[in-house]
Amino acid sequence: MRSLEENAFSEHNTSFEYEFPCWGEYAIELRVLGRYSPYPPAKGACVSYLVCRGDTLILTECGSGAVSRLQEVADWRNLTCVILSHLHADHMSDMLVLRYAVHIDMRNGLRKQPLRVYCPQEPVAQRELLDYKGALEVVPVSAGERLSLGDIDVEFCPAVHPIPCLSMKFSTGKSTLVYSGDTEPNSDLESLARDADTLLCEATCTSTYSAPGHFLCEELGRFAKRARVGRLIATHFATGEDVAQAMREIRLHYPDAEEAQERRVYKISRKPDS
Ligand SMILES: [Zn+2]
Ligand SMILES: [Zn+2]
Repeated sequence: MRSLEENAFSEHNTSFEYEFPCWGEYAIELRVLGRYSPYPPAKGACVSYLVCRGDTLILTECGSGAVSRLQEVADWRNLTCVILSHLHADHMSDMLVLRYAVHIDMRNGLRKQPLRVYCPQEPVAQRELLDYKGALEVVPVSAGERLSLGDIDVEFCPAVHPIPCLSMKFSTGKSTLVYSGDTEPNSDLESLARDADTLLCEATCTSTYSAPGHFLCEELGRFAKRARVGRLIATHFATGEDVAQAMREIRLHYPDAEEAQERRVYKISRKPDS
């Protein structure tokens, strides 16, 4: 009979799809780890995405369930960094357990450097939750900043949300992926997303569900059309609400809109010239 420890170990992935040192052969790869808010449904996870290109692997958002999903495909030890659009729990709650994993590695001498986390400075009380025995190096970022993270450049603009939040654009020189974070439609995001190859955008509110500081699905369709994005992937679906209805409302104005599917990889390539 196998011991409990052996059973636990057998569930631990030792063969990852993302093997160092090179992941992305495509311009940018986006993998959806979780797509739900504000809490995960059975067998689902709150928002979290892997963005990769070449040797750069960025965990973008880390909601509830993300650390488990991450380990289905990648070793957290190989993350270049984490980026959090803001510090609401549906985007960062699993950072509170990822910090333990990193700390254990440091304690066991498997790692010297902390894992770097880029996020807004505020709310301070939420940000301070990320300070744990030196496991995470928290680097505040703000709108207008640009980061060069190996093979991927990232640019931030302000979102419109009840707490400070950032939308962001990932660029490789070959393609662009814009991610909304949580926000209402706004002109900064529209400028950032203009002609982007892909827009990954929150689609929280529908004609029957509303929440402040979020997109209404029908507005999202109009917004993506106006910004002339090459591809629209909708995410941040409200748990318990009807995703099919959300997609129908988006497609009234952007018929090719895609629904973010958990565990799916999206290869972001240059949008066709129009
Ligand atoms: Zn939020
Ligand atoms: Zn959210």
